[in-house]
Amino acid sequence: MDTSDTGRGTTTAAELLELTQEVGRFGVFEWNARQGWARLSRAFITLHGVDCFEGAYESWLSCVFREDRPRISHLIQRAFAEGVREIQAEFRVANAVQGPLKWVEARHLIFYGVDGRAERVIGVNVDITERKQATVQLRAFAETLEEAVSVRTRELEAQNEARQKAEEALRQAQKMEAVGQLTGGIAHDFNNLLTVVLGGLDIIGRQLPALVGSPGAARISHGREMSLKGVHRAVNLTSRLLAFSRQQPLAPRALDINRLVAESCEFLIRTLGEAVSLETVLAAGLWPAHADAQELENAILNLAVNARDAMPRGGKLTVETANCYLDEAYVAGIAEPVARGQYVLIAMTDTGVGIEKAVLERVFDPFFTTKEVGKGTGLGLSQVYGFVRQSSGHVRIYSEIGEGTSVKIYLPRSPDANVTLVESKPSTESATAIGLETVLVVEDDDALRAYTVEILGELGYVVVEASNSATALEVLDRVQEVDLLFTDVVMPGGSNGRQLATEAQKRRADLRVLFTTGYSRNAIVHHGRLDEGVQLISKPFTIQGLGQKIREVLDAPAPPPLNKPT
Ligand code: ADP
Ligand code: MG
Repeated sequence: MDTSDTGRGTTTAAELLELTQEVGRFGVFEWNARQGWARLSRAFITLHGVDCFEGAYESWLSCVFREDRPRISHLIQRAFAEGVREIQAEFRVANAVQGPLKWVEARHLIFYGVDGRAERVIGVNVDITERKQATVQLRAFAETLEEAVSVRTRELEAQNEARQKAEEALRQAQKMEAVGQLTGGIAHDFNNLLTVVLGGLDIIGRQLPALVGSPGAARISHGREMSLKGVHRAVNLTSRLLAFSRQQPLAPRALDINRLVAESCEFLIRTLGEAVSLETVLAAGLWPAHADAQELENAILNLAVNARDAMPRGGKLTVETANCYLDEAYVAGIAEPVARGQYVLIAMTDTGVGIEKAVLERVFDPFFTTKEVGKGTGLGLSQVYGFVRQSSGHVRIYSEIGEGTSVKIYLPRSPDANVTLVESKPSTESATAIGLETVLVVEDDDALRAYTVEILGELGYVVVEASNSATALEVLDRVQEVDLLFTDVVMPGGSNGRQLATEAQKRRADLRVLFTTGYSRNAIVHHGRLDEGVQLISKPFTIQGLGQKIREVLDAPAPPPLNKPT
């Protein structure tokens, strides 16, 4: 179209209509259906990509994109048949020369003759391609948005779940800590009582030979045996409670785990019985681990007993060892603080009944048992947990119902390459070795002190006593002959046994010191380890045990120098 004259302000109505169509991107037409001719505006022709349009219905229809053709044809036919005056439709035009298909919105008026047949159609076809594209983009955008939202929702759900898990694990860790403190306290007091009971039974035992032949002797002996059994079970129990509360004095050293496992297994075979087969898979080149041998043996035994109980109709227990690296990601997923690094793994896997989820969450709790009264104490896994945690290790339990259970113990790798062999049990030979030395007993528990004084007297020592540090130092000043200070670690009144020992050795450089404790987080046992040079006997002790330990300390070449108290 020639727009050069529009600036002159002399636009004709026809020109104005053409311009309007160009700007509005629409074309107009008139079609005489009866006579078969059509008038098309230039814009209409451009829009449809046709240059001639003879006015036949079919030739117009061929302009419509073939996929839209049936729909549009149907619409028009129905409008004609029903005498509809105005129709409106959207479709694509087929003949656009190049580029993407064009979208058109058509608004047509239909005029009918007196016979009711369509006579003329006049209408406007608007190019709506841009609008359509925008809609498509908008829809795509909405879909992307929806997808993004659902991805984010899933992420948030996962984060939420992880947080819940972490909170749950934290609660569990806090519970273990609280229960640990409680049981530790109980076990501590209980140990003092047991020491007294055990001592009384010891004394009775020593009097028995003198009673032989007298009427009650057999019954007294029998009663003593029974009581001893009970006490030993109680000792066992308290030691497991102490283990759980991580207050067992441990003596960790570099251990050859393969060797320890192999030696334990000889013993396990008897425990497991014939129905359960035992297989060991010991890794070559296994690092030494840093742990207490005795307690590790206990842990292995506890796990084996559990495995046996889980396989009443027989099965297989596999004990494996391996070198392991716990990486950042792994330790981050654990509630308790576990350092990343090198560990020695001991895995004990059974083919037993498995553990259901609700039970699994509680297995480490002290006194939690699913076994009938008399069968389980609920302290086996508590010991394992406490021991491993106290050893700066990590324990995990995996279980599948009907498949079996696997307990994995990770103990820190020892920096020391020289492994010490598992200590053999001390011989009982020197137990009766009596002494003539003087021992100062410092103990705040009156009954326990009385008992200790009595058995030391029986062992032949001269005994002096004190119930607290101040009195003990007074005694030391008065009695020159004291050779050995035997003191409790934890004492009321702000001073502990360790400080007392340092003070005492200032007065008497050659004074030997033996500590005793039911448990201790303090001066003697730093982080569960004995300080070097410190001699300690755990409560409860027997006459034999004490006699032996005292001789050992007195016969040692030089008084072990104590480090400064902390
Ligand atoms: P106890 O053996 O005295 O019941 P534990 O602390 O050793 O106490 O174990 C606690 C509970 O954990 C058991 O009563 C049992 O339900 C479950 N359990 C432990 N080990 C296993 C195992 N290997 N297979 C199936 N259940 C086990
Ligand atoms: Mg058990």
